[in-house]
Amino acid sequence: MSDWEIRNVISPACDDAAYIREVAQTKRALELWTMEPGFRSAFLAAPAETLAACGLSVDAFAVKVLCDPETAMAYREKPPEALPRAARRYRAFLREKIEGRERMAREDCVPAHPAFRAWRLRQRNRCWVELGKRNESLIHVPLTFELDLGCSVGCPFCGVMAPRHQKVCRYDEDAALWKGILAFAKETIGDAAGHATCYYATEPLDNPDYEKFVDDFFDVFGIVPQMTSAASMRNPERTRAYLTESLKKNRRVHRFSVLSLDILHRIFETFTPEELLCVELLPQFAEAPGNMFASAGRARKNAAVHVETAEDGNTIACISGFIVNMAEKSVRLITPCGSSEERPTGEILVAKERFTDLEDFRRVLVSMIDRYMLPELPKDQPLCLRPGISFEKMAEGIAFSHAKTLRLKFLGTDDLPAGLYHDVLDKLRAGGRSAYDVVGELMEERDAFPAHVLFILKKFEQAGLFLEPYETPGPSSS
Ligand code: SF4
Repeated sequence: MSDWEIRNVISPACDDAAYIREVAQTKRALELWTMEPGFRSAFLAAPAETLAACGLSVDAFAVKVLCDPETAMAYREKPPEALPRAARRYRAFLREKIEGRERMAREDCVPAHPAFRAWRLRQRNRCWVELGKRNESLIHVPLTFELDLGCSVGCPFCGVMAPRHQKVCRYDEDAALWKGILAFAKETIGDAAGHATCYYATEPLDNPDYEKFVDDFFDVFGIVPQMTSAASMRNPERTRAYLTESLKKNRRVHRFSVLSLDILHRIFETFTPEELLCVELLPQFAEAPGNMFASAGRARKNAAVHVETAEDGNTIACISGFIVNMAEKSVRLITPCGSSEERPTGEILVAKERFTDLEDFRRVLVSMIDRYMLPELPKDQPLCLRPGISFEKMAEGIAFSHAKTLRLKFLGTDDLPAGLYHDVLDKLRAGGRSAYDVVGELMEERDAFPAHVLFILKKFEQAGLFLEPYETPGPSSS
């Protein structure tokens, strides 16, 4: 390998120790920049000396190119080869993480079950319209697990408003149920279920048996679930053992929420940069220069929390699917939306039901799929355009958007001219019409081919522009 070659360090696993050290030390330098008060000014005054004082030997100029806006700007127009080596490698590492996330959203998390697949696609596309670029970071995982009921950490910014810690699922009591649920999830949802996490509105390390549950998960899916912990320093040896073992099986990115400057210092003292190569540190304390929260959950109303924007419409919910709570024995079906007074956590809770045993779990999961996840919207029931979306007729088709988000378009073609899109839109806006009504009326009024009209309606449907039957008032709602 040439000294300047770029490699993947997460997957497939890279075993070049010098390469890993360079990326890991660059990462640590950037963490100091975003979280350590005073580091920025010290580094800008004496870059190499400041890094050395922090135990880092990475090229100081490369760090400057990555974090100092003025230096970064000077390199913006230059070809990538002009970047210092450590900066190129660090950027490649970031790209690798982003590509991994995009692949999960686009391919890995697509359920095998056709109706679930179609429903998730509608929700993901709806979020492009409603949430805009925020949707880039939402994977729309089809399944996730909570091993406890509630969370012991009680963060004042908690985006999912986790309740206080109330109950723990113990492995010795529920191992058979757990294994059965994992097997059924794989059978029903397919490999996409292997991208579940074993936490949501919970702290994974609250559960004393977290590692045992995760071992079974690995046996079924061959994947170690991603972990985000705000309690990484509660028992550092437990954390280290978990990281070491899990990264041996499956090198992937985990995350530590850093809740105070003291915790940051303890993390840095306890773990080498190489040990944390695959752990993102999330700055979640007031003194951190890079500290910022989504305006969702408890952060919405907490004046002491520094939110990205005071406006509603944000979310950290990244699930379009099921949350199985093993402590409460419940299943929730959720999908993201912008946070609001009505939905402060930025989640649409479609349904929630308890189960008693494995057979009952199967019943609940199957009945929720059958009831709420239609493979396509019924053709004989009125179609309702989703409120809050504005449509605009253009010469070349239709544009649609939600307040302050992306403007998306359907463009006409020779077969499907813009005028047909306009006519379909007019029928839908008039309301009360089913797909069959729209087809019949446009056949009569403009001699349109039914297949063409249905094709356009299908595009609307897949874009998530219609209310789901369970969202509409009337006999079909649940
Ligand atoms: S942010 Fe995470 S650790 Fe903090 S209260 Fe919410 S669930 Fe618990």
